[in-house]
Amino acid sequence: PQNPTRTTRDYQALDAAHHIHAFVDQKALNAEGPRVMVRGEGLHLWDNEGKRYLDGMSGLWCTNLGYGRKDLAAAATRQLERLPYYNMFFHTTHPAVVELSELLFSLLPSHYSHAIYTNSGSEANEVLIRTVRRYWQILGKPQKKVMIGRWNGYHGSTLGSTALGGMGFMHEMGGMLPDFAHIGEPYWYVQGGELTEEEFGLKAARELEAKILELGADKVAAFVAEPFQGAGGMIFPPASYWAEVQRICRQYDVLLCADEVIGGFGRTGEWFAHQHFGFEPDTLTIAKGLTSGYIPMGGLVLSKRMAEVLVEQGGVFAHGLTYSGHPVAAAVAIANIKALRDEGVVNQVKNDSGPYLQQCLRQVFEGHPLVGEIQGTGLVAALQLCEDKPSRKRFANETDITWRCRTIGFEEGLIIRATGGRMIMAPALVATRGDIDELVSKTKLALDRTA
Ligand code: PLP
Repeated sequence: PQNPTRTTRDYQALDAAHHIHAFVDQKALNAEGPRVMVRGEGLHLWDNEGKRYLDGMSGLWCTNLGYGRKDLAAAATRQLERLPYYNMFFHTTHPAVVELSELLFSLLPSHYSHAIYTNSGSEANEVLIRTVRRYWQILGKPQKKVMIGRWNGYHGSTLGSTALGGMGFMHEMGGMLPDFAHIGEPYWYVQGGELTEEEFGLKAARELEAKILELGADKVAAFVAEPFQGAGGMIFPPASYWAEVQRICRQYDVLLCADEVIGGFGRTGEWFAHQHFGFEPDTLTIAKGLTSGYIPMGGLVLSKRMAEVLVEQGGVFAHGLTYSGHPVAAAVAIANIKALRDEGVVNQVKNDSGPYLQQCLRQVFEGHPLVGEIQGTGLVAALQLCEDKPSRKRFANETDITWRCRTIGFEEGLIIRATGGRMIMAPALVATRGDIDELVSKTKLALDRTA
């Protein structure tokens, strides 16, 4: 415990008295009392009563290096002692942010050249919206400002990022704005009907073309999407999808923007998820795995083409955040990226732990009565639950069922997530085969008990 004189109930009572949590019914949470997590090591967490959990979600898809990394803590401490803060506003910079950019662009394909740093993924998407609009303004097309996202996509919880995302219940709670539009998600299992995955991928991509034509290409600034849809259920688009989306964006001069907040920094076995799917976005939104969640940091990566317009023709961009490129966050990001690279973590996901997880899931769940589809690559996966496999019929109360599975898992010391009709997992990239065995067997136990 942090403070040995305080019990779980003390923490819960103080929390209930003063703290509003994210995305929960606060009254129900206060009645139940949140678990009080106090320590982490590798993929495991402990609560203050000593109960151990396998974290199958890397926190919120962010602790890519796992918990308890002393090198990341040491990098933060060194930077805190040397230069804890200075801003980027008044013609200054500092070595940590310069060296972070050097390292980041050594990993990225060579057509990217510049980054704007933020503190989170939501902020990075806010910056995206303004940067994209500024880009078209500089090019003399200020009317090109509509951003197209996807229904059920998630890009953050601030106003612009909520409007860009496609979560209807978030829009209803004061989260919609003019000049945002949405197209359907490439969710073949639920929406594919009689089409093959290949055919459905093309159909879903062509919804973008129809939306651009409906709005007018001269009004559409960008299409923004996650390479695979995370919070919306770990939905992996059919193989035909991204190439067609890219063709459409190029044809209508619409920027293609990938939200790599979950997919970046090794999750799929490539450094970035768009590399796994084989397309070339104009911008990348990054956060989470950039620092393995040890400290808040995000950013917007720009192609050379966009950066040249902003830098060479744009003059002052009236935009900035007090903590942009924060030295301590940058120092942690450097230590994190070096560890992912030099310890071969990303290669390991591509060649060993990733294929191992995918193979175990297929072995264990292909014949499971509740599981209709297994999707995933690297260390990210989804199990689609269904009532009838051949017809892909879903349970009418699927969210109750997945929630029950998640709750049983939690009681058994497993953290995985329920989204709609899917159970989703994304363990830390340092997962050993032993960790993966524990993840798969506890997930099976939870599903068996749910059935
Ligand atoms: N984009 C994606 C794809 C995300 O999954 C998230 C968070 O889960 C965000 C953006 C928002 O990031 P943050 O919570 O750091 O603001």
